[in-house]
Amino acid sequence: MSNFLRPQYQNLKPYTPGEQINADYIKLNTNESPFPPSPRVGEVLRSGIEERLQLYSDPTLGELHRAVAAKFGLTEDYVMAANGSDDVLAFAIMAYAGGGGTVVCPDITYGFYPVYTNLFGAKLVTHPLCEDFSVNADDYFNAPGTVVIANPNAPTGIALPLSEIERIIAANRDNIVIIDEAYMPFHGDSCIPLLVKYENLLVTMTMSKSHSLAGLRVGFAVANPHIIADLNRIRYSFNPYNLNAISIKAAAAAIADDEYYDGCIAEINRTREWVTSELVQLGFVCTPSVANFIFAAHPAIDGGELYRKLKERIILVRHLDTPRTRGHVRISIGTMGQMVRLITEIRSILEDKNA
Ligand code: PMP
Repeated sequence: MSNFLRPQYQNLKPYTPGEQINADYIKLNTNESPFPPSPRVGEVLRSGIEERLQLYSDPTLGELHRAVAAKFGLTEDYVMAANGSDDVLAFAIMAYAGGGGTVVCPDITYGFYPVYTNLFGAKLVTHPLCEDFSVNADDYFNAPGTVVIANPNAPTGIALPLSEIERIIAANRDNIVIIDEAYMPFHGDSCIPLLVKYENLLVTMTMSKSHSLAGLRVGFAVANPHIIADLNRIRYSFNPYNLNAISIKAAAAAIADDEYYDGCIAEINRTREWVTSELVQLGFVCTPSVANFIFAAHPAIDGGELYRKLKERIILVRHLDTPRTRGHVRISIGTMGQMVRLITEIRSILEDKNA
């Protein structure tokens, strides 16, 4: 750190991204899709788009907003896309809690919420998850600020029923409630239909997980037009060209290809159920995940040790070293072939420990 950094940034604890190792690892650590994106993305990349790259990208993001709005049966003014849903979350936390406001979220959830809270000078209030790692909706009633809930939550994969999400939104008429639906496509029970009833609801989504486009960096907010106007006010004050021309076109093409992605999602969900039952047979306890990952702990091996032993065997999973999560590993769902290999290696690691 240099001596020039402003004091308020000297204690920042930046987000630690999952490892992106360039080797032949089976990569099950950052919840990417094991499947390639829709073939329509390749068509966009081969369409001669590079000939237009001397021009700025469209700051209105119209083509992409129309595609997202059509998917959810909304009008364009309900949507704002950005450079990954991380961007959307940053704009939202800046807009509704920045400079002295408060963010309220579970103690175990997506690690970027506290990072943005800190970056934008807001206070953080956390509520512990229940013993079974579920969110207790009542904890968030009449919250002292902006509520952020990932549904399904990460790293647990547990979803709150829509009725519970609605109770949180209804009990916070004076606060924005951000529901982060990064993993919702694997579950399907989105709270977007609640937008007609609640002006304080802001839903964030991503193309990084279900739509196999983590490297393209596209996410979006879906909310009532006055909320979208707030987010655009921030976006246009920061970088109106935050999405590049390739991302806009490729994401718009992908979002229209439901048939392809429905197949990928169904396959990932089937594989998750298979891996879960195999892990349970090996003595693991798994949370009831409805996302594209599993959160699992074994009484005979610590999460950190399992992470290290799998890494030696060229399989990367995620270990989160906090008091309540260090016994667990989070395992993204890969192809069936990759997961068969994972189970074989875990069985062998457990056998080595018993030997
Ligand atoms: N929300 C949650 C709960 C996530 O796990 C992630 C990905 N790590 C994101 C948001 C951000 O995704 P992206 O920026 O790739 O859209």
